[in-house]
Amino acid sequence: MNSNTETPSAPSGVNCHICSKMAMRKGVAKHYQEPVRHCMLCNKMFCDSHKSPSQPTDGDGGEGVCEINHSTYYRKRPNKPDVYMSLEQRARVLGGARQ
Ligand SMILES: [Zn+2]
Ligand SMILES: [Zn+2]
Repeated sequence: MNSNTETPSAPSGVNCHICSKMAMRKGVAKHYQEPVRHCMLCNKMFCDSHKSPSQPTDGDGGEGVCEINHSTYYRKRPNKPDVYMSLEQRARVLGGARQ
């Protein structure tokens, strides 16, 4: 069994997931934009140029929300933890809301 699989694509770590996807689609090795932030909704890293235009970000290099449609993302990944469709829903989940 090969349990130690590594994907030979983009280097892992602090790369914008939107840039990576675009780079993969175009088949080019992309250099990633900085600074990279952590998306509070899809739990991925994203660069400054891919932040959500409608959600505020938390200062420099902090957390924020990326520009993808998180309700669509959330619906496609019902089993994924740490994925939220909105900041309100995230607050409800993290706040230990009753179910
Ligand atoms: Zn990006
Ligand atoms: Zn996101």
